Amino acid sequence: MGNTYIALAGALKVLDADFIVPPYNTKKTLNLGSKHSPEVICLPYKLVLGNYIEAIEKGAEGILMIDSPGTCRLGQYSQGSRTAIKDIGYDVEFINLDLYKGRVFEFYKGLKKATGKGNPIELIRAVNIALIKIDMLDVLNDSYSYYRARETRAGAAKKAHKQALKLLDNAITVSECKNALQRGMEILGKVPIDSFKDVLHIDLTGEIFVVIDQFSNMDIEDELGKMGVEVHRKIKLSNWTNTFIKPTLKKFEDSHEGQMKKLARDFIKRDIGGDALESIGDTISAGNNLSDGVIHLLPFTCMPEIISQNILHNVTKQKNIPVLSLILDEFTGRAGFITRLEAFIDLAARRKASRCRQYSQQKRVCR
Ligand code: SF4
Repeated sequence: MGNTYIALAGALKVLDADFIVPPYNTKKTLNLGSKHSPEVICLPYKLVLGNYIEAIEKGAEGILMIDSPGTCRLGQYSQGSRTAIKDIGYDVEFINLDLYKGRVFEFYKGLKKATGKGNPIELIRAVNIALIKIDMLDVLNDSYSYYRARETRAGAAKKAHKQALKLLDNAITVSECKNALQRGMEILGKVPIDSFKDVLHIDLTGEIFVVIDQFSNMDIEDELGKMGVEVHRKIKLSNWTNTFIKPTLKKFEDSHEGQMKKLARDFIKRDIGGDALESIGDTISAGNNLSDGVIHLLPFTCMPEIISQNILHNVTKQKNIPVLSLILDEFTGRAGFITRLEAFIDLAARRKASRCRQYSQQKRVCR
């Protein structure tokens, strides 16, 4: 799932484990996954399965997988991929992190089994490094988004972000991580930009896998950056880990998830699984904060997001916020995808220009 591997690989490096990072998702991953999946299962399942197969082909003898509670098909990922891998004929060990049974303890138990390391202090240190890196990946991504939208040399921000990720990937202690983040931010800070550029602010929300994974979302953040858009990714892995994994004194209601769920309550009363409530809450919040628009990403056949997509029509009307819902699957064509993005950005830019004209008549500042 995008650059998430940096965090999990960090934990395994702390434990000095012998591990294989599967390659980034590609067309090959998707083909492999689709070939061994039920036809109408959601896109993330196919990519996760394809990714496991690629790891096994590179020599992995065991798979560390998450079995998560939820009202959607996520609850079937672990069992489904296990069956598919056995049916293909691979003989590998499955190490399940069963989040139905408890989160922190299951991570601890899973890492212990995968690495054979039993020292609780080392295991806690490993989990801590993974959590720190998850936070830092999101900090770097936000900063990357700022510089990418304003860069004066095409591709400079992308190159800087890559260097920053590499530094973070190599860090295995808390102080190394802090140094890597500081150094990474400095590298990004050196990207030549036009800081007076009038950029559009677009919020990105939807199902977490396709929001985070660049292959499934066709590098949407980079594409928008090239169009001069500062993307505000609202669905972040750190939101989830900070709410559900990290021991915290903060109340659930104060977390991003808690706040978005509260906002969404005017439109939907119960949790329907996945990230549907957050998608609705993020869109309401974008309307309240005068964002220039929202892009909502959903995998084809994703039940929770199909429901939120339909509710977002009402949010658009009530909050006067433009929303583009994009459905992603293995048949989504790049050219049509970019055309839809360009049309939406054109609409959002004209809307912003008209709002700013009104504001200037009222002598108000237009963001
Ligand atoms: S949220 Fe949607 S895409 Fe994600 S696992 Fe559930 S059904 Fe599949």
